[in-house]
Amino acid sequence: MQDQSRLIRNVVIVGGGTAGWMAAAALAKLLKGRVGVTLVESEEIGTVGVGEATIPMIQRFNQVLELDEDEFMRETQATFKLAIEFVNWGRVGDRYMHGFGRIGQQLGTVPFEHYWRKLYNAGQAGDLADYAITRAAAVRNRFMRPAADAGNSPLAEIAYAFHFDAGLYARYLRKYAEGRGVTRIEGRIVDAKLGGLSGRVESVVLADGRAVAGELFIDCSGFRGLLIEQVLHTGYEDWSRWLPCDRAIAVPCASVAPLTPYTRSTAHTAGWQWRIPLQHRIGNGHVFSSGFMAEDEAQRILLANLDGQPLAEPRLLRFTTGMRRQAWNRNVVSMGLASGFMEPLESTSIHLVQTAIARLIEFFPSAGFEQADIDEYNRQSRFEYERIRDFLILHYHANQRDDSEFWRYCREMPIPDTLAAKIELYQRNGRIVREGNELFAEVGWLQVMHGQNLKARGYHPLADLIDEAETHAYLQSVRDVIANCAEVMPSHEDFIAQHCAAVAPQG
Ligand code: FAD
Repeated sequence: MQDQSRLIRNVVIVGGGTAGWMAAAALAKLLKGRVGVTLVESEEIGTVGVGEATIPMIQRFNQVLELDEDEFMRETQATFKLAIEFVNWGRVGDRYMHGFGRIGQQLGTVPFEHYWRKLYNAGQAGDLADYAITRAAAVRNRFMRPAADAGNSPLAEIAYAFHFDAGLYARYLRKYAEGRGVTRIEGRIVDAKLGGLSGRVESVVLADGRAVAGELFIDCSGFRGLLIEQVLHTGYEDWSRWLPCDRAIAVPCASVAPLTPYTRSTAHTAGWQWRIPLQHRIGNGHVFSSGFMAEDEAQRILLANLDGQPLAEPRLLRFTTGMRRQAWNRNVVSMGLASGFMEPLESTSIHLVQTAIARLIEFFPSAGFEQADIDEYNRQSRFEYERIRDFLILHYHANQRDDSEFWRYCREMPIPDTLAAKIELYQRNGRIVREGNELFAEVGWLQVMHGQNLKARGYHPLADLIDEAETHAYLQSVRDVIANCAEVMPSHEDFIAQHCAAVAPQG
């Protein structure tokens, strides 16, 4: 009888896309070489090859790996990201920013936005974006990292993420992981052997007959979910009634000045288009619902809305929004697209890979695999997915567009109760409650709710504890300080040129 409490001896990662190599790099670092890590991937099958915008938590991932940020930027042709600009979402012609980091400065007992709303509803305050350094910098195409010596200045708290080439990021992490002992096997998996008693996956079998054995399998095989679905039949929860986009056509195009430090998301008649500036090109894609638009029409719209010359043939991707019923089943933990996909709208997929890795470390199994650990892992994954899902649905649902069937459907579709409750709370007194450790904070919800014209009728009554003249003066001073700070920041382009410009591609 084997000791069930011993540390497992080896982990097999199936798939070498962004998810697979993120997992391999993190395990190589965190398991200190005490557990063998093997990654199997197939060049013939390839990767999804998109996924270029991130959120600030990725800095934490890079820090855990002790990556040098400038080197990482050079290696992945990365740029900085301060915000997402949403165009045409509430109504055609609308424009708002969802920026990272906080808005305003602490004033009294209640969050800043209530003082702002009090004046805004009376027509005496500017746009939300005027009170946040990331948004003020984004609209001016400025960027700098937070200045450690800036004291209380907004320059000390610039929250940022990256746009990067996902293929280059995977390649960079592969070098990192292989350098720390991860074994890479090239080959196409055609079968898996299950243990008769345990029902666990014991090995995967390659097309050339080789078998790769493991105790824990991490399924990073993309949409197909090679182990989690095709072998273990875990099931998939389909959310397309709320998130109806199911296709994307992606195409890179030539760069144009200025180098914007933000992603742009432009709504079209049956979906939306992303624009992600990298150092060497701009990534673009049209995410749409095939129930409301034909593929050739979607491609025509995409190509008609590029800023530069297309650099490759457009590529079609199909997906179903939703999540795997259990992210972890028996001895298979799914990550990345194998565990679910909810839309690239708020750049959450790579983040979900990161949190899945962190959670796996927290619940890392011994050879016996405790079901209670697996259940808790799955409960936390589901909570995280469902809260992000609600946030994404908000973008579609809170629209006033009347120019297409798609937007009417989104406005009228029944929404999850959890989202309905959030909207109701907001519309009364502008209150937003972040539940547990859900990903998007109050200011994230606020920017989208306000940006898409949901009206909060009132504000927190305790905002009246500070008199109107003082509130007015305070808001004005925050606005002035933010604007002055944004003006002294270097341009995004200059900052990159000075710190982390990639070497121009050869040829
Ligand atoms: P994949 O890239 O599909 O990798 C799967 C791997 O499994 C490959 O290496 C493949 O060779 C291997 N494999 C599969 N089958 C076999 C087999 N039989 N044998 C051997 N190997 C096999 N995320 C963000 O965070 N930000 C974004 O802006 C963003 N935009 C996106 C836009 C679109 C349209 C889509 C579809 C996704 C986007 N994502 C984004 C998600 C992001 O691309 C993925 O989360 C990320 O790339 C991880 O992909 P993956 O590694 O799970 O899968």
